[in-house]
Amino acid sequence: MDAKKNVTKTKKKEEGSALEKKLCMKKEVAWKAYKKADEREIGDFCEGYKGYLDAGKTERECFSDSLRAAEAAGFKPLEKLAEVKAGDRVYLTNRGKNLLLAVIGKKPMREGVNLVASHIDSPRLDLKQNPLYEEKELSMALLRTHYYGGIKKYQWGATPLALHGAVVLSDGKKVDVSIGEKEDEPVFSINDLLPHLSHKKADRKMGEVLSGEELVIIAASMPHPDKKSKSPVKLAVLEYLHENYGMTEEDFVSAEFEAVPVGKARDVGFDRSMVGAYGQDDRICAYTSLRAMLDMQGTPERTCVCFLADKEETGSDSNTGMTSAFMPNSVLRLLSKSGEGGDYAALAESLENSKCLSSDVNAAMDPNFKDVHEPQNASKLGFGVTVTKFTGSRGKSGANDSSAEFVGEIRRILNAAGVQWQTGELGRVDEGGGGTVAKFLAQYNMDVIDCGPAILSMHSPFEIASKADIYETYKAYGAFYAAPF
Ligand code: MN
Ligand code: MN
Repeated sequence: MDAKKNVTKTKKKEEGSALEKKLCMKKEVAWKAYKKADEREIGDFCEGYKGYLDAGKTERECFSDSLRAAEAAGFKPLEKLAEVKAGDRVYLTNRGKNLLLAVIGKKPMREGVNLVASHIDSPRLDLKQNPLYEEKELSMALLRTHYYGGIKKYQWGATPLALHGAVVLSDGKKVDVSIGEKEDEPVFSINDLLPHLSHKKADRKMGEVLSGEELVIIAASMPHPDKKSKSPVKLAVLEYLHENYGMTEEDFVSAEFEAVPVGKARDVGFDRSMVGAYGQDDRICAYTSLRAMLDMQGTPERTCVCFLADKEETGSDSNTGMTSAFMPNSVLRLLSKSGEGGDYAALAESLENSKCLSSDVNAAMDPNFKDVHEPQNASKLGFGVTVTKFTGSRGKSGANDSSAEFVGEIRRILNAAGVQWQTGELGRVDEGGGGTVAKFLAQYNMDVIDCGPAILSMHSPFEIASKADIYETYKAYGAFYAAPF
């Protein structure tokens, strides 16, 4: 080969790699970009997150813990204020299950707010309204449940469970209950069939390995000493509940008891690069959006709103779900107290000019079941916060599908803030799918897009998230709140 040809080839090679750098999308694992100090900061941030998960195993507890943090950061109840002005930090609450935090911006609220909406309910087992019964010949008291949200029922057998909840007694007094989280407290469990006798049952389909009605919780096995009692074990349970909480059997009717996996959030892996815990969908977004709001310095351009929703896992219905009027009513109250008018015209203008991140998790590519994902578009654990343009299933049915224009805005915000991000799609086409609160917020004619970390083992008793993604999500929400649009 002559020298001239060789030079041309080298030049072409250089051009090619420059061109590749300029034109090709490159997404790498986020850890590559961090220095040791970043890793320490991320680790510290996630200690706070783990504490938040441990303090809030139910939507009620998560609400209370978030409210405590907001009050400690100087947020004031809006109802106590006659008016609000730029820089004010306020909150509104709904039934101990929704929290709306706002930092009033410099621009009028009629020009729109920057809203980050996540949910603080997680899949679990709710006790039925009349749950307690006795298997007399077995001397056992049990509790019937109705599962809440999408679960693989078999995952809830043969594992320790804690009972959390609130009960309204016959005189109207409300009592909070939490049994099973402390080391010295008893736990509960749903028994599973031993493998030795599972031979015939082995053909059961996944959803029936333990069926819905088989999710009964073992509550007690010691009979009350009164020999005349027809249900002595049940009676002993009722006696315990009466002595400790003032409850009678009828009080179960006005109670919300949730059985959740026992235990605290833990680091996962030799390198402690991941967090494993129950309820990360979607407290991972609740925590990061809450922290981004509490850590905000100064007065933002636009009013920032952090919203913690309930009932997402059952379709966002009910008065504490995203379809409740609480969110728009709260914006109306904010508008009216800021002197921007308290009529529908003001509200419509504000909502239509608003920008929203539906902050929820996506499914990270599963190393065991890669085939349910389409690798080019699946989000990967540790590759940064995931931006999901559309949700839904089977031809984007039931989707919130954000516009290219809004995705463009979000992309510019994340890039300008140096956030490591990736795109995501919930599974291969026609493999399944799912939705978030996004489509309900889009009904207000605001721009909405899904944005949150991708996790493994979603909806299981032990979900796994990457600490890098948790931190990049926090950074993304901070950049979004600060965006002037
Ligand atoms: Mn979710
Ligand atoms: Mn979910």
